[in-house]
Amino acid sequence: MPKLRFSALEELLEREPKKVEGTRIPTSDYYGELVFDRSKMKKYLSKEAFQHVIETMEKGTRIDRKMADQIALGMKAWAMENGATHYTHWFHPLTDGTAEKHDAFLTFGEFGSMVESFSGSLLVQQEPDASSFPSGGIRNTFEARGYTAWDVSSSAFIVGTTLCIPTIFVSYTGHALDYKTPLLKAVHAVDKAAVDVCQFFDKNVSKVISNLGWEQEYFLIDEALYNARPDLHLTGRTLMGHSSAKDQQLDDHYFGSIPTRVIAFMEEFEIEAYRLGIPVKTRHNEVAPNQFEVAPIFEEANLANDHNQMVMDVMKRVARKHKFRVLFHEKPFAGINGSGKHNNWSLSTNTGVNLLSPGKNPKSNMQFLTFLVNVLKAVHDNQEILLGSILTASNSHRLGANEAPPSIISAFLGTQISAMLDELETRVSDKKMTPDEKTALKLDIGKIPEILLDNTDRNRTSPFAFTGNRFEFRAVGSSANCASALIVLNTAVANQLKEFKTEVDALIEKGVKKDEAIFQVIKEYITASKNIRFDGDGYSQEWVDEAARRGLANISNVPEAIQSFLMDKSKKLFTENNVFTEVELEARCEVEMEKFAKKIQIEARVLGDLALNHIVPTAVQYMNTLIENVQGLKDVFGDTEDFQDLASDRLDLIKKISNHIKSIKNKTHEMVEARKVANKEDDMTKLAEQYDQNVRPYLDDIRYHIDKLELTVDNAMWPLPKYRELLFAR
Ligand code: ADP
Ligand code: MG
Repeated sequence: MPKLRFSALEELLEREPKKVEGTRIPTSDYYGELVFDRSKMKKYLSKEAFQHVIETMEKGTRIDRKMADQIALGMKAWAMENGATHYTHWFHPLTDGTAEKHDAFLTFGEFGSMVESFSGSLLVQQEPDASSFPSGGIRNTFEARGYTAWDVSSSAFIVGTTLCIPTIFVSYTGHALDYKTPLLKAVHAVDKAAVDVCQFFDKNVSKVISNLGWEQEYFLIDEALYNARPDLHLTGRTLMGHSSAKDQQLDDHYFGSIPTRVIAFMEEFEIEAYRLGIPVKTRHNEVAPNQFEVAPIFEEANLANDHNQMVMDVMKRVARKHKFRVLFHEKPFAGINGSGKHNNWSLSTNTGVNLLSPGKNPKSNMQFLTFLVNVLKAVHDNQEILLGSILTASNSHRLGANEAPPSIISAFLGTQISAMLDELETRVSDKKMTPDEKTALKLDIGKIPEILLDNTDRNRTSPFAFTGNRFEFRAVGSSANCASALIVLNTAVANQLKEFKTEVDALIEKGVKKDEAIFQVIKEYITASKNIRFDGDGYSQEWVDEAARRGLANISNVPEAIQSFLMDKSKKLFTENNVFTEVELEARCEVEMEKFAKKIQIEARVLGDLALNHIVPTAVQYMNTLIENVQGLKDVFGDTEDFQDLASDRLDLIKKISNHIKSIKNKTHEMVEARKVANKEDDMTKLAEQYDQNVRPYLDDIRYHIDKLELTVDNAMWPLPKYRELLFAR
């Protein structure tokens, strides 16, 4: 094994940046060339078929069967011209990543000949044999049928020689088995609810779009070193490794110049992304060594999420060409920053107005405040579910460290907006306002500056921060499917906007003037959601204490967070807004619990294996050299005072090493026993809880002893690449 470590290090010395081919300037010349977008549809479809697709896209209606055949023909022609031989329905199962099963366009033609064919029915709907995707018991295996159905709102694209058709994935009984179905429903719910509220301000609004701009953080590790770390390979993170003498203390990596090999990688994956119509825009180093970030221009949430999944896939593929591995795990290395995926989220109208951006006059600012306050109230009322949407086995490692995923949800607004809300709260009363009061209030509201982006005011410790024209949900993990968080956020806001409209309408019914009714309900919400607002240091102990006093949820345990989906209020929220049925919620929780337990199980197995088969033998070997040395000294000096004096440190070391070895063996044994007990559980929640409470703690325990050995054992014998090598060799 040390051989692998040292040959990897040698290999690394030879590395040169890969020359990137295919750079074509300007980017706009080839942007989206692998996407069957509107311009290609126009070219490859009959006028009738083209109009039909556009209509289905805009109205969310169903594709007509006859039209589907025409569309499939056009799509196939375009795909074949671009080198595609196969097609696949591409979907987001509840595992990590996306799924695809490729079929060739081929069928038998006349007289045994082969022809390329692709029919409308194959385009629109399919029954992949996908019975092994997690379904939380919704599908019995004997009728393990799930359907994939075309999501017309996200364009088909080509990867390699395969035409990929974005689809939803539902069970035979119509229950969602993926992330996309509920995301589309949540986005629809918020569209409808927000359009209704917009009518108070502007009758021309007929559609509200939920936007997402993700910021994807990741680590890059050299391939040779990666291959010498079975833990990285199998679990995505290092299960052991003493911290490097230097890591991120000096902040010298952040925004520093990007290493040349890395730049080459970035250039190549960006080209691939552009060809796929993914608008990546920003690239830079992140806080930790070998950590980087990519961010696109924001898009409609469903499309943006597809693009995020696609980009992760592209990055994994391109990284290999550059002899890198890309790590999306939230915490590949203990002791340094992990990776997140900030979800920048906003709502905008078909009339081009960002509802979370202050406007130019009192009316548009009233609309802005309405949406802002409703979002705060939604976040306040659904804290636990929001935590449940982001907390996973891997993201939970970021808890407590100086990183945005919190065990407490709070919202940052900045001084200006906070002051505005406080003022509204005191100035609006239940009593009828005098015309003067109303005018004065409106005037003041009109004074909210159009541009709020005050950089000094940006609070990096807040999990949910208002940043001038959007909210930034920072707690999302880097490996996550953004849909998980966005389903909850959009549904919660949709529900809240519905309530808002009902309350305002009720006041208007009672004879209160519209503006005043809006002010009154906003004021009520400001008061009710006040506890969620926090502009201070979200990482401090004071905040934990303060949050407890405020009665905010504090959940750091993954199974508990997942269970928040089954609270009465969650069931009400999701069923009333048609996003999940109760069956779907229960199934999803079961899947999440099982996923959690399995991840811990795998980590425990890998650690046990490495501990007993790699680390202990190495430590024993090193200890033997010490014993030989001591024996030699004794031969030379006899059992004299000189010998005692000379050998004492080695004798100590032998004892220390022996003790660590003993602890590793005992604890590994205990961990195996704990797993055996846990595995007897049939109930997924109990299984997850057992793994969390009785198995997981051993991972840190065992690691502690291994890391101590790493500091002691001869460097030349140590089998696994060390942190300093993983993080600084490039
Ligand atoms: P940061 O300072 O947070 O790193 P960036 O300029 O990198 O900010 O932007 C982060 C992401 O936020 C980008 O994807 C960007 O497109 C997105 N974004 C900007 N404005 C909005 C908005 N109104 N709604 C949603 N996302 C937005
Ligand atoms: Mg950001």
